[in-house]
Amino acid sequence: MNRALFKIMLAGSIISLPVASHGQANGAALAANGASPADTRLLKTIKDRPAVKTAFAALEAEHDQWVENIIALTQIPAPPFKEAQRAKAYADKFKAAGIGDVEIDKEGNVLGLLRGSGKPGGKLVVVAAHLDTVFPEGTDVTVKREGDTLHAPGIGDDVAGLATQLSLIKALAAAKIKAPMDILFVGDVGEEGLGDLRGVKHLFLKGKYKDRIASFFSIDDGSVDGLTNGGVGSKRYKLTFKGPGGHSFGAFGIVNPMTAMSQAIVNIYKIPVPKSPKTTFSASVVGGGSSVNAIPRESWLQLDMRSESAAELAKLEQAVLAQVDAGVASENAARSTKDGAISVDKQLIGDRPAGNTDAASPLVQQTIAAYATEGVTARLSFSSTDANVPMNLGIPASPFRARRRAGAAIRWTNGSTSARRLP
Ligand SMILES: [Zn+2]
Repeated sequence: MNRALFKIMLAGSIISLPVASHGQANGAALAANGASPADTRLLKTIKDRPAVKTAFAALEAEHDQWVENIIALTQIPAPPFKEAQRAKAYADKFKAAGIGDVEIDKEGNVLGLLRGSGKPGGKLVVVAAHLDTVFPEGTDVTVKREGDTLHAPGIGDDVAGLATQLSLIKALAAAKIKAPMDILFVGDVGEEGLGDLRGVKHLFLKGKYKDRIASFFSIDDGSVDGLTNGGVGSKRYKLTFKGPGGHSFGAFGIVNPMTAMSQAIVNIYKIPVPKSPKTTFSASVVGGGSSVNAIPRESWLQLDMRSESAAELAKLEQAVLAQVDAGVASENAARSTKDGAISVDKQLIGDRPAGNTDAASPLVQQTIAAYATEGVTARLSFSSTDANVPMNLGIPASPFRARRRAGAAIRWTNGSTSARRLP
């Protein structure tokens, strides 16, 4: 179980710094599976080390405990902004796994430090999985078992990642493997939706380890061959258009915030965006008005913008906000403002930075090689995850999606539940 994942972590934590320059130089010469021959050789060497074999054996022996951890953690609800109960249980499991310096930071992230052989306080590697789920408070999180398949909301995204971290910690300890750098294991909060990556943002911008992080891995939902090296950035706004309001008959002729909003939406949809880097927008949710015979005082719009490129996202944001202002101006010019003019509040409700880790970088190259030693051809992709934050800061980062052995049967269903068939 999770052998590919284990090697991938070894690639990042144990060898990435010593061979960083070599990996860069090798970016051009790739084998058919996408890994450079030198990285493939390196990973094969690692696979044959006695300590690594011991660690693999420990991972196999850990399987039942891994399943028990998945079930136990899934059944503790962790809706957005309410991860505290699961965090506490996870911190206890960190301690039981034997990791040091366990704490829950100010934002609610669970942290545990596995000391390496380097100097205390030196650079470290982060391995993370997220505590939160997309499911709202009150969702039934009971795990249901059907043969070798487990069903429950959030079980794959991302409790399996949390449980995998515990198994990795124990396997490293069983084999007495000491990485050159410390490894900071993290169960982070706020990965999903309006959580807006708050856990990882805190880790990189305010947390006590922020200046020590050399690279970042996260274990998150997806297919076995997925390797995300690009972070899709997003900006989300709630735009509230306000006006004087009045009776639909008696006050006819005054400005209407709904018209300003509609005008803005129509014009936003004329903004040209590049196919590559993929850049998109969506007018997604609207509301407002109070009665069919009243000119509204208020109408609002939630808008989502995304791009693979930070520069394109910034350009799009500017163009969209200009159209919002233009919609307001055109309505104020078109009808009477004797009772008051239309104004707009622009509230930023989501901000995920864009970024990417170069496919030729040592981290990506060695990760591809790690997949290849398990017979898996890595598929590079863009996605919006915890890794957006370090990518945007220029720190090598990669969420990998290798929670199953190649060929092992795991089924996932999206929507209200995730299902995991046990390998
Ligand atoms: Zn996830």
